[in-house]
Amino acid sequence: MKKLFTKLALSSSALLVAASIAGPAASQGQAVSYKDQAKLHAIATAPSAENLRKDVQTLVDFGTRHTLSETESETQGIGAARRWIFAEFERISAACGGCLEVYYSTGVIEGEARIPEATEVVSVVAIQRGKTDPERYVLMAGDIDSRVTDVMDSTSISPGANDNASGLAGTIEAARVLSQYEFNGSIVYAALAGEEQGLFGGQILAKQALEENWRLHAVLNNDMIANIAGINGVIDNTTARVFAEGTRQNETAADARARRFTGGEVDSPSRNLGRYISWMADRYIQNLDVMLVYRLDRFGRGGHHRPFNDVGYPGVRIMETNEHYDRQHQDLRNEDGRHFGDTIEFMDFDYAAKLTALNAVTLASMAWAPAPPSEVEIRGAVQPHTTLRWAEASEQEKDIIAGYRIYWRYTDAPNWQFSRDVGNVTEFTLENVVIDNYFFGVSSVSKDGFESPVVFPGAAGTFDLRQ
Ligand SMILES: [Zn+2]
Repeated sequence: MKKLFTKLALSSSALLVAASIAGPAASQGQAVSYKDQAKLHAIATAPSAENLRKDVQTLVDFGTRHTLSETESETQGIGAARRWIFAEFERISAACGGCLEVYYSTGVIEGEARIPEATEVVSVVAIQRGKTDPERYVLMAGDIDSRVTDVMDSTSISPGANDNASGLAGTIEAARVLSQYEFNGSIVYAALAGEEQGLFGGQILAKQALEENWRLHAVLNNDMIANIAGINGVIDNTTARVFAEGTRQNETAADARARRFTGGEVDSPSRNLGRYISWMADRYIQNLDVMLVYRLDRFGRGGHHRPFNDVGYPGVRIMETNEHYDRQHQDLRNEDGRHFGDTIEFMDFDYAAKLTALNAVTLASMAWAPAPPSEVEIRGAVQPHTTLRWAEASEQEKDIIAGYRIYWRYTDAPNWQFSRDVGNVTEFTLENVVIDNYFFGVSSVSKDGFESPVVFPGAAGTFDLRQ
């Protein structure tokens, strides 16, 4: 026993030594700190597995939701499905005193491999307008449409239960939960159409966002959030994947040159959004870890965050960790006892509720926090100190902002390691922290302690649109 104590004492003093030799980082900053939020705990436990099950069943009952399917029927096909979604958003809005602006986002697509004839692609969008800064947005999305083996087959039964009634039901449920609150920024709930035929609903909405100058700081694309039994035999309901691209798709040659000399390959706004979502899981969602994947999407595959990334908006794909390919894009059939088809009985709705909660706390936290800092710059080459500078908060946010928090980490560390509250200033110098040895970023913090994602300096990291 005595020996054990000695050993323990030794190892804790060894820890102290390790901390003190960490030097500048340890003396100037501290381990990342954060104010716990009771409202986010309430939101984290609000999504209902039963509501998700009911909504997925309703969507499955439309027979097929193929983009080229029936639009006139009230019970079958894509037309009936989108009218039901519109009505559901209206019902949610009625319950919160009209807090949602519901509209159809439409475009006509033709001459495409998967949409040869002119077809209306109709998404359903609901906006919950923010109080202090209504022109900035965070967005959650799921998809309306479904498919079977032949992507052009618009008449066969195509339940699309997990792919992707799950993400859509999650989006509707998040609207139910979050419409009980008022936020500073706006939240968009999007039921996107035409995903399987070529991401058309997302393209149409991203174009609209650009044309209307949306300051869109997060796109959370939910695509398959209810499968816990992988085709590789793994059964796991404790992890979710967040896919986030590296360098921005619309990076200019000049931006790329600057990045080569200063870094930023792993600090796009999408990546720092991914880190933020991972923090939300650690802080608010029981038994859920986020696996942040440094890739746009699954290997060679696509999803509806991409059209937003294409035009420069931060966005990620949130989904289950373990996929089952027999239950995606398959004609319903049984081959020697092996089931094929995306049917509801394989879905885990408690897990879907957990991933819905992850989205909801992320949307709420960002919409209560001030906007991520703009125009973040850094300097400090051949100096002992590192200085960060950023733009003043916008006029409408001056009343809610408490100040800023600078973060830094070793360049090979995946997550922010050190932080320092620097007050309500627009420039701060970290004394004797050498710029060469760390990556840096800055977040904004509201008076009630809600915090934005961390913004890496320069074009590589900004959450603002660059065109
Ligand atoms: Zn799919």
